[in-house]
Amino acid sequence: MPFRMFAGARRRLKSAIKRRIISGHRRSGRVLFSDTTLRDGEQMPGATLEPEDKVRIAQALEALGVHSIDAGFPASSAADADAVRRMVRAVSRPVLTCLCRMLRGDIDVAAEALDGRPSHKRGVSLFCGVSPVHRRARHQKSPAEMITLITDAIRYAAERFDVVAFGPEDGSRTEIDFLCETYREAIDAGASTIGFADTVGVLTPDKTRDMLARIQDGVPNIDRALLAVHFHNDLGLGTANTLAAIQSGAQIVQCTINGIGERAGNTSLEEVALAMALHPDEFGAPECLDLTQLAPLCRLVSELTGVPLPVNKPVAGDNVFATEAGVHQDGLLKDPDTYLPYRPELIGCSGLKLVLGRHSGRRAVASRLEELGVRATEAQSLQILEAIKRLPKGSQVDDERLRLLAAEAASPAPRSRSA
Ligand code: MN
Repeated sequence: MPFRMFAGARRRLKSAIKRRIISGHRRSGRVLFSDTTLRDGEQMPGATLEPEDKVRIAQALEALGVHSIDAGFPASSAADADAVRRMVRAVSRPVLTCLCRMLRGDIDVAAEALDGRPSHKRGVSLFCGVSPVHRRARHQKSPAEMITLITDAIRYAAERFDVVAFGPEDGSRTEIDFLCETYREAIDAGASTIGFADTVGVLTPDKTRDMLARIQDGVPNIDRALLAVHFHNDLGLGTANTLAAIQSGAQIVQCTINGIGERAGNTSLEEVALAMALHPDEFGAPECLDLTQLAPLCRLVSELTGVPLPVNKPVAGDNVFATEAGVHQDGLLKDPDTYLPYRPELIGCSGLKLVLGRHSGRRAVASRLEELGVRATEAQSLQILEAIKRLPKGSQVDDERLRLLAAEAASPAPRSRSA
């Protein structure tokens, strides 16, 4: 009997501490980043990562400063469980969470994979589809049966984990009253985070704001949990919706690096982080992130997943600091701020890339020659530019070619040779 009383007191103390941590987070107004590159991102066809690759990405995410890493779904494969076990040893700061179905077995497997990690740095994310189509087609359960499934699993998880996230799939296509009921019951059963997921990426910023306002109104115990959001990019609105959610009071945003993920992908972490950095008046600053880690991390994820980055991908693409147009090149050489939203150094990039091509101007040619230590008169620079403009479409003017063109301009060759 005394032992039982002691256990009860300990449980009450633990839940009091948990409440203080949650209310502290809520009051701080700080937005926390949860990265799901290694889980939802890896679900992208062809993006499979080996456990050692996942560890490298997790370490880079830790250097960036994300609050938590959705580390994988250990019950789904031995490789996932292995990767989680390695991450437990390789990273210390982020919370590592594991995806689980509403099954005790999944929660046990997650607990085993996360064994050895301090209790405030490990958690589970419990998911099930809650929309009408998921209830009917996948779970074949009534709304009341779904609530029982959810609360049983959360109670079981909360006995083993301090961090328990409830992640109802397809929340954006769920009846708002039922969605609010699942959140209320989940929080009462011990969920420390409730997730709002636009699983198939159909929302717009206005509808996001509307749904989140109705959730804040319809879940009276919401101050006992953190609100996390997860968007997909099927309409190209992942970043816009995530930013709208921040304005609507979301405390945790879940994203992936380079926006990789199911179908059209997830919200790109780097895009949200940059939008926040440039507009702290609207979204608060992403103060926990070291933005100079972004560019190297985006390249690492592309390299290890084998998913190429579109050259014009915001923040991460090869062309975001490159220009071929003469007017822009001239402006950038006078002051980079003329045609840049932010300096490359902010995200850990080395500098501008002035591409020499048909649209370039004399200043860019002269500037590159100077960097290469090649002397050329103004007339010669102009002559080189004319030669560049005559090159066949798609020709690359690399440094070697530029040196050759400069040599030609410097030696008065017979006119007939260039014909
Ligand atoms: Mn997803």
